[in-house]
Amino acid sequence: MDRVAGKIALVTGAAQGMGAAHARLLVKEGARVVLADLNDAAGEALAAELGENARYVHLDVTDYPAWEAAIAFTVAEFGGLDVLVNNAGIVNFTPLPEFPLDLWDKTLAVNLTSVFYGMRAAFEPLRNSGKGSVVNISSVAGLVGLPAMPAYNATKFGVRGITKSAALDFGPHNIRVNSIHPGTIRTPMTADLAVDQSHVALERAADPEEVSALVLYLASDDSSFSTGAEFIVDGGQTT
Ligand code: NAD
Repeated sequence: MDRVAGKIALVTGAAQGMGAAHARLLVKEGARVVLADLNDAAGEALAAELGENARYVHLDVTDYPAWEAAIAFTVAEFGGLDVLVNNAGIVNFTPLPEFPLDLWDKTLAVNLTSVFYGMRAAFEPLRNSGKGSVVNISSVAGLVGLPAMPAYNATKFGVRGITKSAALDFGPHNIRVNSIHPGTIRTPMTADLAVDQSHVALERAADPEEVSALVLYLASDDSSFSTGAEFIVDGGQTT
């Protein structure tokens, strides 16, 4: 129950879905966690449920000054930052010829620019940690092309790319940076999707906790020699 004991983490998109599951597991395993989201009601409720080792902060991940404020809040509340989980994301399923122009810009901002902003804003406290870890949530859409999600595909490949670039820049400062590539996970994001998973080796979707286990590993010192790497948790979808 103490795989991340003493560590301080910030998880974006933590009000529901996978982000909420990651925050829950990190607190359970001994971390103090700041939950960041746009959904204040759900985020505050989850932070209250998790108790004294959790805080909620309103953060629009597309807003750089808001990132600086959220990092400052984390350091003020808990005394530092060891783990950043860039999890917030959005998706829209529309083929490229009809894909709305405004949604292209929005998806890039929420899914990709946010990851750059977060790592840039968090660099100083992560360096001070001496054992910093950044976990960037990409997708199988960061590994292979998928139909009707041009912006999502582009951003998730981008998250995989900036993870490798940041790993090289951050490595000399003892900050590790890795990406996670989930397949279909049962969250509000996928609630409306077809349930057929026959294209997946394990023939099923996963629960958020099956991804949280990997987030925990990458947040912990157990993964001390892994950086710039992609970790696939997709039931064999891309095999
Ligand atoms: P979700 O829609 O259930 O939750 C996303 C959370 O992000 C919400 O709480 C939402 O309020 C928050 N959010 C959205 N825009 C934000 C912004 N601008 N600033 C701050 N918070 C914002 O999604 P999920 O399924 O839990 O997905 C989490 C991550 O995992 C996303 O990056 C998603 O792309 C990725 N992912 C999901 C799946 C899946 O099958 N669910 C698969 C692969 C990757």
